[in-house]
Amino acid sequence: MKNKEQKSFKSRELFDKLRATKVGWFNLKTRLTMLVLAEVLVFILIAFGLSRLIVMVFPSFSKVPLFAQIAVLSLIAIGVATRLFSRLFFDPIKKLREAMQRVADGDLTVRLDTDSSSKEIQEVNAGFNLMMEELNATEILQTDFVSNVSHEFKTPINAIEGYTTLLQSCDSLSCEEQEYVEKILFNTKRLSTLVGNILLLSKIENQSISSPKTTFRLDEQIRQSVVALEPSWGNKDIEFEADLEDIEYTGSESLLHHVWDNVIGNAIKFSPKGGEISIRLYREKESIVFIAEDSGPGLSEKSEKHLFDKFYQGDTSHKSEGNGLGLALVKRILAICGGDICGENRPEGGCRFTVKLYENGRKN
Ligand code: ADP
Repeated sequence: MKNKEQKSFKSRELFDKLRATKVGWFNLKTRLTMLVLAEVLVFILIAFGLSRLIVMVFPSFSKVPLFAQIAVLSLIAIGVATRLFSRLFFDPIKKLREAMQRVADGDLTVRLDTDSSSKEIQEVNAGFNLMMEELNATEILQTDFVSNVSHEFKTPINAIEGYTTLLQSCDSLSCEEQEYVEKILFNTKRLSTLVGNILLLSKIENQSISSPKTTFRLDEQIRQSVVALEPSWGNKDIEFEADLEDIEYTGSESLLHHVWDNVIGNAIKFSPKGGEISIRLYREKESIVFIAEDSGPGLSEKSEKHLFDKFYQGDTSHKSEGNGLGLALVKRILAICGGDICGENRPEGGCRFTVKLYENGRKN
């Protein structure tokens, strides 16, 4: 945190210093005007020399009026030179545009070079860097706050859950009281999952989670998820079809199990009673592919766009069964493990989620 504050202070100092110094006579506008004038003058002279040379080699060229010869040759030369010189002025704009795109994609580590020869560009880049330091500081403050508050919530929630579970097994409760206890337990579990998800997300977003790599069987891990979720799909009479290749994988076992739990859990949650779910796992070139298909309502156009946003819940009919953090968590875990996920509708109805894990940790 101290280091961040120092960085932010340095960026502000540089920005203030640049703003305080006067641009002087050779500002960007003057330099551009001078460059264009010099370019025109030099190229008219070069075009004149060139036209004389061409006339010597091809005497018939002299039939073209001298003005037209110079105009055509200098236009070609100026066009080529402007294209080359314009990089000098437009490269910083291109870099700024790319940096802004990365920020829009959520990367707050982007910084721009402040070593440019132009004072105006130095000032713009230093301003951008300062903005990024401030944004970073706010983000850290926010995630620290969320993570601390979630931690504080955890202990009382666990206590409520524990005591309510004890109360549930009490024989002296009336039917009505039993119903209340079940409701308390259901909502406490929801709260506990939400807090757990927020904590995990904030940990992996800050990369503070240490995820030791082990070699394990992916197909076995997926089977365990399906078995653990049996109460939910068994209750709905869902037919499960699984075609899982034996695949050994080296990576974070503890993080990956959240991926299967969420994707398969969603397929179950959104499938109707008596629906069908099919899961497949296979190797494809340098990646491992996992596909989950369901016979649910599929994704709306809006859901498809926001699937991986935090707290997004497209289908509100299942609102109480989730918190909109599952897929955001999955996306982040896969980014850390070297993988990706996408969701789409199937032509025959329902949707298909495809998870890819790249064996060398990178997309080819
Ligand atoms: P939630 O806890 O609400 O399930 P997720 O992040 O797991 O949160 O999913 C976000 C949203 O994506 C869901 O609310 C739902 O609208 C949509 N979604 C995810 N999986 C499916 C699916 N298998 N079928 C239909 N919609 C889905």
